[in-house]
Amino acid sequence: MSFKEQLLKEVEGSELNFECLTKFIEDENIPVFNAALAQGINGLATKEAIYIDVLRTIRNLGIDKLFFVIAHEIGHYKRNINLTQEEVLDNIVKNDYRAYVNYVMNEEIFADRYGRMVFRLLNGKNFPADRTQQLEKESYRHVYSKRLEGTYTYIKDRIKTQDDYQHELKNFVTHVR
Ligand SMILES: [Zn+2]
Repeated sequence: MSFKEQLLKEVEGSELNFECLTKFIEDENIPVFNAALAQGINGLATKEAIYIDVLRTIRNLGIDKLFFVIAHEIGHYKRNINLTQEEVLDNIVKNDYRAYVNYVMNEEIFADRYGRMVFRLLNGKNFPADRTQQLEKESYRHVYSKRLEGTYTYIKDRIKTQDDYQHELKNFVTHVR
């Protein structure tokens, strides 16, 4: 079953415009996969594809949030495809912790805005700002950057080459459905 078929089956009865969202994905030729993701993440975007843990997102966060997560990851993907593989790697293995945090923070703020924009355009209503990461707020930025300290150390130790990067990605995407 295609991602579209799987998704529409899972969200059957929702008043949100998933038909339009899947049409957008098809029209833009974005490879999206329904996957089991590790480390509690709901979605993941690389330069090549988007992976969404449809079932867990619905179970833990609901169908509205799933719509937002898909749109959010499309935002990341659309930025990533303009980069070379070297630039992608470069962005996540920045030598400087602050540069890394700045990069991630800006990407997340962008993707949240993009996600809310797509949600509003396709559904004619707002996705509540307080259900996003709210990284415009200093207190949320603080908590998030604390969390990124661990991620930064993890990445710095393990990812040095394209092969390392691909290998780590495989650890996150445990199973494509
Ligand atoms: Zn994100």
